[in-house]
Amino acid sequence: MGFKPEISDFYARLSSDPLTMAFAEEKKAMPSLARMQRQPPEWKGGSFAEFGPEAFMARPERPLALYVHVPFCHHHCTFCPFYINQTKKDFSKEYASLLLKEIVDTAHVLREVVDKRSVDAIYFGGGTPSDLDRDDMAAVIRALHDCFRISPEAEVTVEGRTTGFTAEKGKAWVEAGANRFSLGVQSANTALRKKLGRISSREEVGETLNGLCESGASVVIDLMYGLPGQDIPMLLDDIRYISEETDIAGLDLYELRCFPDSPLDKAIQRGKMPMLPEFHEKARMFGAAYARLYDYGFEHFSPKHWRRNRRERSLYNRLAGRQTDMIPFGSAAGGRLGTIGLGTARDIASYTEMVERGEKPLSRIAFSPLSVDRGGFSHELDIAMESLRLPDIGKWPVSYRESGKKLLAQWKEAGLLADSSDGKGMSLTCAGFFWSDRLKKLLADFVAVPVAG
Ligand code: SF4
Repeated sequence: MGFKPEISDFYARLSSDPLTMAFAEEKKAMPSLARMQRQPPEWKGGSFAEFGPEAFMARPERPLALYVHVPFCHHHCTFCPFYINQTKKDFSKEYASLLLKEIVDTAHVLREVVDKRSVDAIYFGGGTPSDLDRDDMAAVIRALHDCFRISPEAEVTVEGRTTGFTAEKGKAWVEAGANRFSLGVQSANTALRKKLGRISSREEVGETLNGLCESGASVVIDLMYGLPGQDIPMLLDDIRYISEETDIAGLDLYELRCFPDSPLDKAIQRGKMPMLPEFHEKARMFGAAYARLYDYGFEHFSPKHWRRNRRERSLYNRLAGRQTDMIPFGSAAGGRLGTIGLGTARDIASYTEMVERGEKPLSRIAFSPLSVDRGGFSHELDIAMESLRLPDIGKWPVSYRESGKKLLAQWKEAGLLADSSDGKGMSLTCAGFFWSDRLKKLLADFVAVPVAG
């Protein structure tokens, strides 16, 4: 590296307002030092049919998840970086029939996995999986249940958006084997929703959510803060509305990330959309939402997730951050197999050709730097963070324990950590959660290089 950082390089600022002041700048999605130091080794392991059966049996004790991607959307929401294909007439039948073939072929290649490993979670993500027709999606859900050994406790989530996600679809998909629906609501403010490209009104959102709740599935939503033109009263009114007027089981609270050159970024640049709230305002929004969700009886369950009942587990999201084997299906899907990252063909024509030829439609097989470092401290970090705390000092690499104690004591003094109520290690405070991405990156860097002091 050529330099040896001081421990004070990792310290937070001491202030009376850690939520807005703990670090100098806005949280940025910069790659961590630890990740930059690792180059993914070149993949020399052959095709999926050659490496898949043995590799998926190498660590059968790991959780197993199935991820199905549906990369189609009715239109491009202004803030979204995940849009790939426009939903076209007849897409549902054609895409579902490709998924059905891919599921059967994959299960055939992974016969031993099917016999010996049970699936803990299935997730339909997108794109907009809820745009699939009722019977097409039901057939795909059933095929996964028929072809793989799905644990009776498995969480089976279908993601979607409120427009077109009818109660009738929800009922049919629960009958087919789904038990959780996750909807990207983002805001319940009708005017703000329209600016984001969301066409349904607040009342339509409420009706859709309650209609889906009647299916018996756990219904959860995404809410965002830091939206253009949004202020604290608007955000708190969203929380009031979804708490008082809907029966949802939980929600994820996210900060809007405005990606350069996204439709949202361009609209703001052209003056067609209000500016994004200032960073300090976003921090205060987070703090206000955090307190209000407690007031409404939500339990803070994982860093971004809140729930209203114990049935809601957010299992897939919690597994996705850990050492979970994940089999991808569909176009533009991501999967994982220990230290190997898997990605399916993003281009729908290539995906179609490969599936029709009977091949697993992988376009990317690589040792994942993300996975490589998960065997050690960052794995402990993921697990601890999911429990709303930092890893006990006994789980740190031995040579970092003394300096680690010093660092944690400083972060506690800065208002980011508190002694946990069960006496085991340190919990994150509200400010600690706001800065949790920054803390995670700092800790990954801290144990990646020798630190002076
Ligand atoms: S937010 Fe969802 S529906 Fe909108 S463009 Fe992105 S993936 Fe599609």
